[in-house]
Amino acid sequence: MSFDERLEKAIDDLWDEELLFLKTLGSFDSTLGNEKGVQQFIENYLKDMDFETASFDVNNDEISNYKNHGIPVIDYKDRPVVVGSKKPEINDGKSLILQAHIDVVDAGPKSHWETEPYIPTVKDNKMYGRGILDMKGGLAANIFAVKALEKMNEPLHGEVQIQTVIEEEVTGNGALALLQAGYTADAALIPEPTQHRILTSQVGVIYLRVTVRGVGAHVEKADEAVNATMNAFKIIEALEKYREFINSQEKHEAFKHHPHPLNINIGKIQGGDWTSSVPVETTFEARIGCYPGTDPADIQKEVRDWIIEACEKDEWLKDNLPEIEFFGFKAHGFEMDIENDLYRILAESHKEVTGEKVENLSFTATTDVRAFDEFGIPVTCYGPLGNYMHAPNEYIDLDSLRYTTKVIAYFIKNWCNQ
Ligand SMILES: [Zn+2]
Repeated sequence: MSFDERLEKAIDDLWDEELLFLKTLGSFDSTLGNEKGVQQFIENYLKDMDFETASFDVNNDEISNYKNHGIPVIDYKDRPVVVGSKKPEINDGKSLILQAHIDVVDAGPKSHWETEPYIPTVKDNKMYGRGILDMKGGLAANIFAVKALEKMNEPLHGEVQIQTVIEEEVTGNGALALLQAGYTADAALIPEPTQHRILTSQVGVIYLRVTVRGVGAHVEKADEAVNATMNAFKIIEALEKYREFINSQEKHEAFKHHPHPLNINIGKIQGGDWTSSVPVETTFEARIGCYPGTDPADIQKEVRDWIIEACEKDEWLKDNLPEIEFFGFKAHGFEMDIENDLYRILAESHKEVTGEKVENLSFTATTDVRAFDEFGIPVTCYGPLGNYMHAPNEYIDLDSLRYTTKVIAYFIKNWCNQ
C-alpha cells in the first residue's frame, strides 16, 4: 500500500477514538481559571502514548520582559501548561512543535444554544460545543496525526512536541512560558480553525478597560445626578469614531483586500445596581486591533489620547476623566515569510491530501504564533473548518477534522524527516 493508503486506513481505524477524545476535551469547561482538569487529562493521555511530559504553572516574572507578554488578569496558581515530547532513536531530522490552546471563552447564555455547550453533540457530521472548533478540534488533530503515524510504524527522524497552553484568549502568556522554559524546536504548527488556509499574517490586539464615574441619586432627583452609564456611552461613541478613523487610513499591505481589517469590540459593560438608582460607576471593556509593524504600546497611547480628547469636549467628563487601564493582550501583529521550508512543506502536505493549492489567510484576530515569532521559530496556523467560534452553537465540520488530521500527519513526516 502507498503511504497515502496506509495513512487513510490508520486515520479510519482511529476515527472513533479521535471523536471520543474530542468529546472528552469538550466536556471540560476550560474557561479562564478552570484549565487544570483538562490539562491533567491531556498530560495523562500523552504519558499513555509514551511521551515524556512536563507541566508547570506560568511564572509571570520570568516572561514579563518579552514584547508579547500580556498583562495577567488572574493568578497563575494551578493553571498549568503541558508539554509532551518524543525524541526518535536516530535524531537527525528537524524538530517540530504542535501547539494548541485549551482555554475557551465563556459559553454565554445557554438559551442561545441548541445543545449543551459542554456536552459535545454530533449532528449531521458536525460536532457542537464550546471550544470544539477553537481549538480542541485542532488539538485532537495534532495528537491523532502522531497516533496514526505510530500505528503505521512510520519512522520519524526529528523530535515531536505536543504543547497545550492556557490564556491564548487573553494574554498569550501560556505559549511564552513553555518557550521560555526551553521547549523550543525548528518549527511550530498551531491548528487554529483557519478553514484549511495557511495563516501568513495577523493583526495585533490590545485590551482596554474604562471606568466612568457619575453622581448617584434616586430617580426622583435624577436632575441632580450624573448617570455613569450614559457617560460611558459617550466614550463608546468616541471609540466608534476611532474605529472609523483607523480603517480610513492607508491599509497594511497584507490586509489591502480586506474591507474592514481593524475591529474594535465593546465586549463587556457593567454598571448600576438598581433599576431606580442612577448608576455611580460604569465599566466597559474593549478589544482593539492594530496592524503588524505597529507597537501595541503606541496604540495604547493613541487610544488613551483619543478618549481624553473626547472627554475634554464634555462638560462633566472634562473635570471627571474616566480611569483608563490596559490589561490582557499587548499582542504584536505577525507577518510570515512564505519563502521558507515550513510554508512550502505545509502547502505540499495540503495539496497531497486535498489535491488543491492552499490559500493564504490574513487574519483579523490574534493567535499564539507571535510568541514563536518572538523566539525566532518559524510558525504558522493551519486547521479545520467549522463555524461560530466565540458564539453560540460553535461546531467543527468532522470531514474537515479528518482532513486536518491527515494534512498534519503528512506535515509531521515531511518536516521531521528532512
Ligand atoms: Zn483559538
